Amino acid sequence: MYWKKLPFKTIKSKIFEALENNLNYKDEPILGLPATYLDQEQFYFNAPFLKDAPFLSTLISNPNHIGCHTYSKGESYFSGTQAVEVDVLRICAEEILGAEPNSYDGYVAPGGTEANIQAQWIYRNYFVKEKKAKLEEIGLIFSEDVHYSAFKGCNILSIKPITIKIDKDRNWDLVDLEKQLITQKQLGIKYLIVHLTMATTMYGSIDVPGPIIETIKAHFEDYFVHVDAAFGGFIYPFTNSECQLTFKNESVSSITLDGHKMLQAPYGTGIFLARKGLMEYAQTEEASYVQGTDFTLCGSRSGANAVSMWMILMSHGSAGWQYQMERLIDRTDGICEKLDELNIPYYRNPYMNIVAMDAKYIPIEVAKKYHLVADDFNNPKWWKIVTMMHVKKHVIDKFLIDLQQASTVFHN
Ligand SMILES: *Cc1c(COP(=O)(O)O)cnc(C)c1O
Repeated sequence: MYWKKLPFKTIKSKIFEALENNLNYKDEPILGLPATYLDQEQFYFNAPFLKDAPFLSTLISNPNHIGCHTYSKGESYFSGTQAVEVDVLRICAEEILGAEPNSYDGYVAPGGTEANIQAQWIYRNYFVKEKKAKLEEIGLIFSEDVHYSAFKGCNILSIKPITIKIDKDRNWDLVDLEKQLITQKQLGIKYLIVHLTMATTMYGSIDVPGPIIETIKAHFEDYFVHVDAAFGGFIYPFTNSECQLTFKNESVSSITLDGHKMLQAPYGTGIFLARKGLMEYAQTEEASYVQGTDFTLCGSRSGANAVSMWMILMSHGSAGWQYQMERLIDRTDGICEKLDELNIPYYRNPYMNIVAMDAKYIPIEVAKKYHLVADDFNNPKWWKIVTMMHVKKHVIDKFLIDLQQASTVFHN
């Protein structure tokens, strides 16, 4: 994994150069597009700081990245910033997730939810088109720690959600998996979309693909594997070089990432990536007024989102990003050491920055004071800490002191 850190001056000039290569509503003869720059009362071009602000300049010039730019030429109007998006996808797919050059398609989606639904949509259409599947024969299979977007997608696409129990280590319960596979087959399910998670939202647990896929293979011939790395994608591959949920794993067909979680990019920076030959199944050929048609769920989307991710990735470089993620792991290690001292049970994957603490040991006032998040706010069994960049050591220390005081009270 390697990409070079660039100085801000270079980043700035590359983005302004990309904007130069876009069609420009300000001084070019553009009569046909149902689009323009941002409102000039609020977002005027001649604000003096804009010459040093490539992201804001992109936002104001408002390039539309509609379509899929790894697949087809697409709309040629904004080819400058579209090339920036393609470079973001290259870094994510090839450098972070081990794909071969030109072996994937993808786009910057509004978020992880859409990227997950895009995957389900593609596989559902594949099964219908290539296998003549009926909708009621298609199932989405995942563990009970899955993000709720999996259910959202099933609801929209009329496919069946199949939940597998987890064991005490928060891995898929393979006995329950086998049982469910047999039952679902009897109930008429013939095609499976396997939804694996690289860092569940609540626990930071990482699905172990090998045994899950082996078990599924023994019962089903037709399945695809999608990896939901919305939370873990910008941290886990950096902190664990043995990560098995990348494109290096031949079973994996598509991956979701979220720039607006660990990468600290603005909202609107989900990423969908799929191996070549799949994106076609989400093509809307009726999108005939879009050059190259459309392959995405969302349609129009701002090029500024891709630009924001590119700028962040370039300003750190791969080594800088890895260092930053390792620091979060160190900080999380510190929390766990203290919890061990206090004999407070918790779940934590050692390569992740999430600690889910047994709610029995956490006084509700402490949970509220530090805005901890529960697995279920009506009936918390777990409270979690997520060591994000703003979670500084002095706040962690205060929390641990509060917890220590409470636990003295508990133990007396
Ligand atoms: C946050 C998250 C999502 C959904 O992402 P949005 O960007 O909120 O749509 C999906 N899966 C996982 C594992 C997540 O953590």
